[in-house]
Amino acid sequence: MCGVFGIIGKDCEAGKLTYFGLYALQHRGQESAGIAVLDEKGIIHYHKGMGLVPQVFTENILQGLPGNTAIGHVRYSTTGASQIKNAQPINVRLPDDSTAMLAHNGNLVNTAELRAELEENGVSLQMSSDSEIIAALLTKHYNGDLVRTLTEIAPKLKGAFSLVLLTKNKIIGMRDPHGIRPLCFGRLANNNGYVIASESCALDITGATLEREVHKGEIVTLEIDEVKSFIYDGMKTDALCIFEFVYFARPDSIINGRNVYKVREKFGELLFREHPVDADVVIPVPDSGMPAAIGFAKSSGIPYEAGLIKNRYVGRTFINPSQIMREIGVRLKLNPLPEVLAGRKVVLIDDSIVRGTTSAKLVKLLRDNGAKEIHFRVSCPPSVSPCYYGIDTATKSQLIAANYSVEEIRRKLDADSLGYLSQDAMLEATKLPPKFCLGCFNGCYPADVPQGDELGLIYKD
Ligand code: AMP
Repeated sequence: MCGVFGIIGKDCEAGKLTYFGLYALQHRGQESAGIAVLDEKGIIHYHKGMGLVPQVFTENILQGLPGNTAIGHVRYSTTGASQIKNAQPINVRLPDDSTAMLAHNGNLVNTAELRAELEENGVSLQMSSDSEIIAALLTKHYNGDLVRTLTEIAPKLKGAFSLVLLTKNKIIGMRDPHGIRPLCFGRLANNNGYVIASESCALDITGATLEREVHKGEIVTLEIDEVKSFIYDGMKTDALCIFEFVYFARPDSIINGRNVYKVREKFGELLFREHPVDADVVIPVPDSGMPAAIGFAKSSGIPYEAGLIKNRYVGRTFINPSQIMREIGVRLKLNPLPEVLAGRKVVLIDDSIVRGTTSAKLVKLLRDNGAKEIHFRVSCPPSVSPCYYGIDTATKSQLIAANYSVEEIRRKLDADSLGYLSQDAMLEATKLPPKFCLGCFNGCYPADVPQGDELGLIYKD
């Protein structure tokens, strides 16, 4: 997963606004951050580094990024190692001596194939990421017009991509033919330009008003006073990743006209409808379980209380790529409140169980702190299949629900009961047509999966 951002404005400090935009998208990637800015003379300046947005950028560095047009990226690696050379935006060298910068969210599934093809053609690649492949294809096939080149290379790109590019005079946004990863744009106040971002929460911070999503199979070009749209592939089914609503997106974002918080609250309401329980208190796993816990509490009438206190300064545990960090991460991040837990029947709500590492630790933590009964409720269906399109959900062998029944998981977690939201209820809660990528929940994928991965069932249009 990654976050992408772009802005073109009249007399705006694009570098600084991109910094704030990336701050708002920090939840989408915590390994590296980068900003590229186009100055008044048409020269691109950029800076990228490892770490969180405020660790990578100081006031001084931002001063050195002047200009009205910029793009930015926050990264967490799904393809390619966690190294500075894989940080983005990436340079796209164009044969006419100009240059563009590219930021990518999503994951290509045919990287190895494309890499081999490029290398056979004498292209030397520096990075290990799929995004570099897109940049190399643009260089190789450049025909004098970046939008036309993008439409030409698009059929080669299999998988998920939401792209933002910075060129000499505009910002370009592009979404894959299924629209797997989100991308939206909005207008700055007083018609002073446009902002494009993975999520609308990043538009809010610039004062821009959300206009709409970039459609699946669409390229948009943003200039200060104009948006142009090109549909390069309008025939495929919509397949927005449902996991954006479940976990990944920020609750204050609006995706396809739906506020993520409200959808999660509805997940909680429907979770109670499907798995009611007699208990004394509803406790969320903060922060991701909070909206669903509020929904569960509202519909059940069981009081909502905080029984786990989160250290705000520790990032998402799962996002640390190594298992050891994940193990330490849980305890670092969440501290139980015995005053709330002791002697009570607890409904513990989390948005998802992936490997089960966090959940087992949490149940133990609650028991050790006096909880009498623990009824685990999960506001999505069992995660049974990997994500190939940019979310690091682990391999099938690591996914607890791919390997054990609900009853077996309950025993492993040592919970008194365990209930998952059904797929139908999850879709009902979105109040949107049921056209999503549900690959992680049902093993059916809208686009190709990596070659040789026999686990993936692909449904074709
Ligand atoms: P696990 O211990 O593997 O079951 O992790 C479950 C926890 O990780 C839940 O609290 C989720 O909120 C969170 N989570 C689920 N999917 C992801 C993901 N792709 N990236 C980061 N965190 C996640």
